[in-house]
Amino acid sequence: MNAITPIDTGHDADGGLSAILERQRAAFLRDSLPSLAERRRDLTKLKEAILARQEEFVAALNTDFGHRARQETLLLDLGSTVGTIKYLHGNLRRWMRAERRSVAMVFFPGSNRVVYQPLGVVGIISPWNYPVSLALAPLATALAAGNRVMLKPSEMTPATTALLATMLGDLFPEEQVAVVTGDAKVGTAFSSLPFDHILFTGSTPVGRAVMRAASENLVPVTLELGGKSPVIVERGAPLRTAAHRIAYGKLANGGQTCVAPDYLLVPKEEVEAFVALFREEVDKLYPDIGANPDYTWIINDHHFARLTGLVVDALAKGARVIEIGTKSAASARSQSRLFLPKIVLDVTDAMKVMQDEIFGPILPIVPYHELDDAIAYVNARPRPLALYVFGTDGQGSQRVLERTISGNLVINDTMFHYAQDDLPFGGVGMSGMGAYHGPEGFKSMSHAKGVYEQPRFNVAEGVRPPFGRLFDFLSFFILR
Ligand code: NAD
Repeated sequence: MNAITPIDTGHDADGGLSAILERQRAAFLRDSLPSLAERRRDLTKLKEAILARQEEFVAALNTDFGHRARQETLLLDLGSTVGTIKYLHGNLRRWMRAERRSVAMVFFPGSNRVVYQPLGVVGIISPWNYPVSLALAPLATALAAGNRVMLKPSEMTPATTALLATMLGDLFPEEQVAVVTGDAKVGTAFSSLPFDHILFTGSTPVGRAVMRAASENLVPVTLELGGKSPVIVERGAPLRTAAHRIAYGKLANGGQTCVAPDYLLVPKEEVEAFVALFREEVDKLYPDIGANPDYTWIINDHHFARLTGLVVDALAKGARVIEIGTKSAASARSQSRLFLPKIVLDVTDAMKVMQDEIFGPILPIVPYHELDDAIAYVNARPRPLALYVFGTDGQGSQRVLERTISGNLVINDTMFHYAQDDLPFGGVGMSGMGAYHGPEGFKSMSHAKGVYEQPRFNVAEGVRPPFGRLFDFLSFFILR
């Protein structure tokens, strides 16, 4: 069964989207809250379906990217999703338990608790760069919290989206999970629906549009956005290790990762040494990169031209560009979207490469004098989704931790924070709001209902008229 819901088959103004939402909401109100066992069953069948379709996902992603490294699909899309599902499964019992809260003496022996209840129907909008994990990890979180889900994946990865729709259609009834396909126009209609929550992953400009649409219905949003995530290499940090780990973060998935290191801040006198080591480490990670199947291509011609444009613009404004590797005859074909890694030196704020999120294998390096200059450079720009610092003795990293605000911080590596299931993941300021992963994800898709329970006899009776000696006694404690 296929759960794709084409936009033009419905009869209402938004092509059937409202009708799906109404059916899901009616089912949510009709059925009792899903039990722990039901939620775990849903998570397990989702995990098993992903595992059973590994090869289909590898093939679909390869079709969508032109070339997508098989291991990247297995690890970064499928593996990370399976890890999230296992983590949700393992922690759900604890999160679903009511939390006891304290009671002021005057209300004794009343009791307080917080109960986490599903919100209802959650709308999820996902991007193309990790089209499986960025659709299914939020979906699994929403299901774990007991919600129903409408999912709108990216139109840029049609093969993967079709596979997701088929798989989810086979697993869940439409009144529990529905997949809606389409482009920005569908996205606009989708984000205008009166969901109980929207989780959007994508670019900052579209995030702004989603929040604007959601505000009409006062729908709360989690916005997982992008932007420029910097790396600070401290003076004296082991340069080869830094180069190795930065090269991995910059080049995984062809650089098309929201938390990829965007640009580097390196002590002025260490820039040339770093560049030499970076080239060596790229060679070690991807020998003969121009023909290496481990290196993923750029998603489409539009993004290939955009990246080429960033380099052309930087060159025209006085940058030095160092290309790493050479293309093989096959990858030099006009249809190939293999984009060789490039280091950009002598950059200025006037260059587009220092203004826009790069989202590709281009690495600008900004020299700095003192660590505080690097910190000031970061703080003068929008708050990043991730900040990376490579340090020596921990003191510099601590200073960066305390003096900067970013969604997450990684010390001595890049990207791996995304895979830490027990940490919240999300941005701050222009890089997003709210978080998922960790208990924060479950809570963001639940309503924390405070419950106060009054026993038959309660001291608080004394605060109601007619006022007497008990009131005087209680007010003595309240007003001191
Ligand atoms: P995008 O914002 O162009 O599109 C994301 C989704 O929004 C797609 O499904 C698209 O169809 C839909 N959409 C487009 N216009 C819309 C509108 N007006 N209203 C509602 N929905 C609309 O992003 P993209 O190009 O797919 O992904 C790249 C961006 O996503 C980068 O900025 C990257 O940093 C960011 N990103 C963030 C994270 C994160 O976890 N924070 C993860 C991956 C990607």
